Amino acid sequence: MATEGELPGELWDEPLGHGPAVRGLWRAARAGRLPHALLFTGPAGIGKFRAARWFTLGLYCERGLPAEGGAPCGQCGPCKRVKSASHLDVFAVDLLETPADERPEELKIGRFVRRERDSDWDGATVDEFLALRAAEGGWRVVLVREMERANVAAQNSILKMLEEPSPNVLWILECSRKNDLLPTIASRCVQVQFERLEVDAVRAWLEQRGVAAERARVLARWSRGSPGEALRSLAQREWELRGLLVETLRGGAPPLVAAAAVWELDGTFEGKTAKAIERARARTTLDLALACVRDLAQAREGAPQSELPHADLASLDLPVAHSGATLRATLETLLALRRDVESNIDPPLLLDRAFLALAPRTAAPRPAAAR
Ligand SMILES: [Zn+2]
Repeated sequence: MATEGELPGELWDEPLGHGPAVRGLWRAARAGRLPHALLFTGPAGIGKFRAARWFTLGLYCERGLPAEGGAPCGQCGPCKRVKSASHLDVFAVDLLETPADERPEELKIGRFVRRERDSDWDGATVDEFLALRAAEGGWRVVLVREMERANVAAQNSILKMLEEPSPNVLWILECSRKNDLLPTIASRCVQVQFERLEVDAVRAWLEQRGVAAERARVLARWSRGSPGEALRSLAQREWELRGLLVETLRGGAPPLVAAAAVWELDGTFEGKTAKAIERARARTTLDLALACVRDLAQAREGAPQSELPHADLASLDLPVAHSGATLRATLETLLALRRDVESNIDPPLLLDRAFLALAPRTAAPRPAAAR
């Protein structure tokens, strides 16, 4: 099943920028040195799960493990079965396969261990899969996408299974926030660190998807070399959002008018309820405002502009950047509002306050002169 932002047909191709890392793993497999659990870590949206898929395909391809510089054929019976999720020896736990408006925020224990009660999952589970014998001989692979979404109970169930490795079972856990994992899970796995891509590679990739050249250049820079992040940014209208933020910072738009315009933009936000979707939009807007003001503050302190996605704002002579104290106060206000997004405060109210904090301070009214 195609996931958001992935073009049909390219899901199972060599993952942009990660070919060498995957080939290293096939080399280890050829030498009989694959561990029983791999943890693919690195920033979100850079293609770690895509790398996990391609690696898995290479384990099953009828032509055998790809030789140096090679790739799985993608056409043989086993390749086709892996690609269509009908290979009996591959089991994927992938929340992104659930439509966005039904997707739970957490991976719960019921996905991993059969639960009769208290479960929101009635499909097959990992423990059931592990109880079976290899259908086609060779590896049996459990793929988990976004391990950081697994709650503590789910992580404990995985830990138990990792502690009792079955022969020929290979776990591939993909995770963008390693700090959210139980340390004992990370230490049970061999970690494979994936890096961001070249910004220029992301730009070219966006252009291939029909994103106009200038927008592709800017979004690639904002994403700091993460194609998935660039797609999220595109889907959540950050280009237009930043326009509203900058107009407010300039004093060119009344803050409450700009804040109201945020809610007029379309855009794709995840959430099961209308309120959750509103909160997601407020989160995105506040994160972007924070990134802009933070980059302004860092540029003012002399950080190299090439490392700041929003450093171009420093050339706009924005009133907020005139004093370090104003920048710090604005940052603090935005951070407090960002924390409040997770509370019950009305999201539009939070954005009103954020835009008011961004607008240039009007001079305090002078006391009337004594007559
Ligand atoms: Zn094949």
